[in-house]
Amino acid sequence: MKFHVLTLFPEIPRAFFESSIMAKAVQKGIIAYDLVNIRDFALDKHKTCDDSPYGGGAGMVMMTTPLASALNSVKPKRKRVIYVTPSGKKFTQNMAYELSRESDLVLICGRYEGIDQRIIDSYVDDEISIGDYVLSSGEVAATVIIDAVYRLIDGVIASESLEEESFSDGLLEYPQYTRPEEFLEQKVPDILLSGHHKNIRAWRLKQRLAKTLRMRPDLIAKARDNGKLTKEAEKMIEEITRIGEH
Ligand code: SAM
Repeated sequence: MKFHVLTLFPEIPRAFFESSIMAKAVQKGIIAYDLVNIRDFALDKHKTCDDSPYGGGAGMVMMTTPLASALNSVKPKRKRVIYVTPSGKKFTQNMAYELSRESDLVLICGRYEGIDQRIIDSYVDDEISIGDYVLSSGEVAATVIIDAVYRLIDGVIASESLEEESFSDGLLEYPQYTRPEEFLEQKVPDILLSGHHKNIRAWRLKQRLAKTLRMRPDLIAKARDNGKLTKEAEKMIEEITRIGEH
């Protein structure tokens, strides 16, 4: 997959593409990226990319022409274009899975008060928000989406790591422990030291259900509606709620 990031500050996403697991995925040729500096397409000698809004009001708006030229410069022609914006659809793990099937993703990072509506109407396929808060710019939001998407692509990380993590089947993850066996007078739960895989699996499922009930009861309702809760899980939920374990 190739990510094309249109930005006024390429150094922000560049740090991500050049680090850790992403850097390895790029080296292996699984991921490619292109950081397109919108300022390179500005028309005046000051490289101006913003202008005041029609109708008045606070702040500036990103200009149409440099952004349109930057979008037109991206090859191939068939590509999915995303504008990251607080007024978009809220980003979820399911959206990350869906986007991970694309071959090319173009992400437009906004600044100031955002971009001209006519760019959205002419070029953008999806408007995506990473949450109900306002960031000062789109680079961090675009990087969040890229991070959630690229790790789902075959060969980036082991598929077993994806199977039981949060949201994979509608539930949050179970608690994780590593050495030492005792830390700050707290012992690792005995069951995890037992080597009894069947019991460990059941314990982990119960922990996932208890945590999801406590933190995100809306996800339990959704998992139930989607037929993702097994009879075993429903029985555990009954136990957890009866004894108030969560
Ligand atoms: N005037 C805009 C509004 O009220 O919705 C906010 C603009 S914000 C200061 C500047 C840029 O940051 C946006 O164009 C967008 O690209 C990015 N941004 C801010 N918050 C975001 C969020 N929650 N999700 C995705 N992008 C966001």
